[in-house]
Amino acid sequence: MSDDKPIRSGGGSALAGSDHDEITGFLLRRPFLSEVDRAIAQASTQELGKLWLGVVSLPKLRHVNAALGFDAGDNLLREVAAIMQKELPEAFAMGRLEGGDLALASFGPVKRLSRRSAPEAEAKFLGNTVQTLGSHIFMSVRAGICQYRAPDDAAECLRKTQLALVRARDEAGGDLRYYTDDMGQLAETRARLVRELLPAIESDALTLQYQPQIDLKTGALVGVEALVRWPQPDGSFISPAEFIPIAERSELIVPLGDWVLRKACEQAAYWRGTGLPPFHVAVNVSPVQFYKTDLVTTVRSLLAETNLEPNWLELELTEGAVMGDGDESLLVLRQLRELGIELAIDDFGTGYSSLSYLKRFPVQRLKIDQSFVRNSHENADDRAITRTIIAIGKNLDMKVLAEGAETSDHIQFLASEGCDEAQGYYYARPLDAEVVADFVRSRPPAGASH
Ligand code: C2E
Ligand code: MG
Ligand code: MG
Repeated sequence: MSDDKPIRSGGGSALAGSDHDEITGFLLRRPFLSEVDRAIAQASTQELGKLWLGVVSLPKLRHVNAALGFDAGDNLLREVAAIMQKELPEAFAMGRLEGGDLALASFGPVKRLSRRSAPEAEAKFLGNTVQTLGSHIFMSVRAGICQYRAPDDAAECLRKTQLALVRARDEAGGDLRYYTDDMGQLAETRARLVRELLPAIESDALTLQYQPQIDLKTGALVGVEALVRWPQPDGSFISPAEFIPIAERSELIVPLGDWVLRKACEQAAYWRGTGLPPFHVAVNVSPVQFYKTDLVTTVRSLLAETNLEPNWLELELTEGAVMGDGDESLLVLRQLRELGIELAIDDFGTGYSSLSYLKRFPVQRLKIDQSFVRNSHENADDRAITRTIIAIGKNLDMKVLAEGAETSDHIQFLASEGCDEAQGYYYARPLDAEVVADFVRSRPPAGASH
């Protein structure tokens, strides 16, 4: 095939048949892959070095179908397919994979598809406006691209292209992404974590650590935050920052969240039984848990089962979770509050909050996100945000706790601004449950002046 231009297939409705998609005229997924496999088998090594696969995705297609009807969506797809054919004449096969995902294969000049400088044709393609049934729709497209590497077959090359597309969809401003090996490794790690997480939860292989929260006036301990840890056989830990987002996406956060709540309640009941002065155990609740589970029933039965006084438990919710569903969220928060537990808003300042809702929410504590606290002593903007959150808390009659307080400068600044409480490495890192009691006893009693 070296000198012959590869035969282009999958374009134009003239070719529509059982191998072709009715709307775009592109090949359906399997025939598209067969076409690419055929090209791989026939190409010289040199040509293979120039083989690229791309997937162009229309994330808005679903919205167009819902808002304007399927005819409009079909029309949009047809228009996009026509643009692809016009702008990407070098493609030798085009396919419709599913929904709004259109694929192309090309023995393109590598230069045009090189990293950083978006390929001209793609650049033209991105941000196009397509007219569909009289409505102008701004078409934002996302694209993943992968250069063929032996001995992959078409399916494997397409899988890698999809990984690049997923990255383009997930990242802000990610219109176009090229496959790199780290994407493959990341996907494998994620898949492994998803496989191993449920067995880890069920076999009690996870643990909780507890990070002290300190009253800035008295120096007394007001609470601890339960932070989940996933120990590995080699003695290391997988960070929750790594596995919580994966658990959220896979909804394994539901059994994980139940496990954490139960362990934290059992631990709090144990501490209470040892005669320690009361302090709350704060548990992080993911938005998925907030929306998809009956938190009120779960918490009520856990409190009863562990015989825990409700003021020993606090739930930390994020702005996104509580603001997302307005009145519905308000109802759930009120019911939780009626159980006697405390409620905090975590990472405050990083999401969006409606102040009119915030005023009505039965929340006792705002936690200033650590990103503002970290730079508060040197960055005027972060200092101003921290001050503002403290003022909001005061005006709404809520306690304000600063997260990520690492240095005496942080503590001094926070105390001078009237912040109520702080949590961070300055006082303690997250501690194993066994050493918390000693820590509590080492602090001045509540009510003492600091
Ligand atoms: P978060 O709820 O905002 O928790 C505070 C995080 O900041 C913890 O990270 C804590 O170890 C860290 N941290 C505390 N003090 C300092 C400090 O002075 N400096 C710095 N640089 N960091 C500090 P961790 O344990 O890695 O947890 C990360 C996030 O994972 C948590 O952020 C929370 O959103 C989530 N997470 C942890 N455990 C759970 C859980 O049981 N359920 C859910 N849904 N999320 C959890
Ligand atoms: Mg938290
Ligand atoms: Mg936080």
